[in-house]
Amino acid sequence: MKDKNTMPFVTLETIVSLCKRRGFVFPGSEIYGGLAGTFDYGHLGLALKDNIKRLWWRMFVEERDDMYGIGAAILMNSKVWEASGHVSGFNDPLVECRNCKGRFRADHLEDANTCPTCGKSGTLGEARQFNMMFETRAGVSDDASATVYLRPETAAGMFVNFKNTIDAYHPKLPFGLAQIGKAFRNEIAPRDFIFRLRELEQMEVEYFVRPDEWERAFSQWEEVMSVFAREVGIDIEHFHPTEIPPGDLAHYSKRTIDFEFDYPFGRKELWGLAYRTDFDLLAHTKGSTVPLEYFDETTGEKIVPHVIEPSLGVDRTLLAILTSAYREETTGEDTRVYLALPPKIAPIKAMVSPLLKNKPELVERAKEIRAQLKKIHPAIAWEDNGNIGKRYRRQDEIGTPFCITIDFDTLGENQELKDTVTLRHRDTGEQERLAISEVEERLRSALG
Ligand code: ATP
Repeated sequence: MKDKNTMPFVTLETIVSLCKRRGFVFPGSEIYGGLAGTFDYGHLGLALKDNIKRLWWRMFVEERDDMYGIGAAILMNSKVWEASGHVSGFNDPLVECRNCKGRFRADHLEDANTCPTCGKSGTLGEARQFNMMFETRAGVSDDASATVYLRPETAAGMFVNFKNTIDAYHPKLPFGLAQIGKAFRNEIAPRDFIFRLRELEQMEVEYFVRPDEWERAFSQWEEVMSVFAREVGIDIEHFHPTEIPPGDLAHYSKRTIDFEFDYPFGRKELWGLAYRTDFDLLAHTKGSTVPLEYFDETTGEKIVPHVIEPSLGVDRTLLAILTSAYREETTGEDTRVYLALPPKIAPIKAMVSPLLKNKPELVERAKEIRAQLKKIHPAIAWEDNGNIGKRYRRQDEIGTPFCITIDFDTLGENQELKDTVTLRHRDTGEQERLAISEVEERLRSALG
């Protein structure tokens, strides 16, 4: 087994190749040569992503009494992005090489004088600001008023619905809005698989507090994010909450923590947590001329709440989980690859298999048992190809925590073992003989 404490413990190529081979993630538009910064999720990747989002929704919304969900449109009135500062300021510094015409992010260059593609020195031009929003048009008109942007973050959809939420639900402070959805950024140099994408997915919260209560709320969300990291299967040894020094804070933020992760290509931002003061509500009040305030019934005062924003990228989370879960176990000449995913995150919860596929009585009983287990969770796979060892290996590689094998003893060939099955554990390879009811119990408790 590789030493997980030496960095990087798995290469990005290994993860990319596993994702493609086993149908987690494919390059976007691949048969047409691809489209940089886009990836397509296959059946297993989609299931994994769904499980991440579901757990997030449960922990950040459903288990609390102070959170409201929102599903805002991706296309929003352009005035939203003027007010938020994105039209003028959502920029990255772009430099171009005079020799090879390559374009790079100036702040990502290892050597500011040398082109990373052609290697020439002194050919990089002056940095200019490049706006990262994707622009398109709404309707048939082609004048400037028809310009709309694909949202570069989900946050704005929550600020513009602050008043609607107060009017509809009358929440008391503190309360928050949560949204999961796609965001689009025209990154100058998309790279590192699903780490830096042009089409990405975010899970964000805007949590509204009284101005003097921000510190307590900030610490609470910091804790929730760390617990979520553990629950979702991120290796805590490689997870680093990092305080942003005051001099490096964005203009709207009074405190920010970047949660960094040791990806195979280095330590990089996984998630962010920011105290955004009253910047957004004031900006949208000014932009829309609609007051975004909270009426405090106890004091009779109108206040503009301050905002704590936990912001998590779904794709970066998925990549951190796969990096954390990847294991190679070598015995002699043989190497077994498995993903040590938490059962509630694993795309497939268990695999059911008849020992032999050409024995109808075994197949029939195995199908019955699978149908029974599907009542606990629908993601129960069926495998009958190749020998049992190969079937286990295939499931190991996609992170299936349990494999259940039905043999002649299950059918009662050995009366004492009737209605028992073999339960095999992914991480240890250990096998137990258990009654079907016990297997059901194990599955239930593993899925929490
Ligand atoms: P970076 O500095 O890496 O560009 P950022 O600070 O611009 O990231 P935020 O604006 O804070 O990122 O976005 C919130 C979260 O959305 C990030 O923590 C990350 O998880 C995710 N995210 C941002 N940009 C991308 C991207 N291009 N591809 C994938 N996920 C992204």
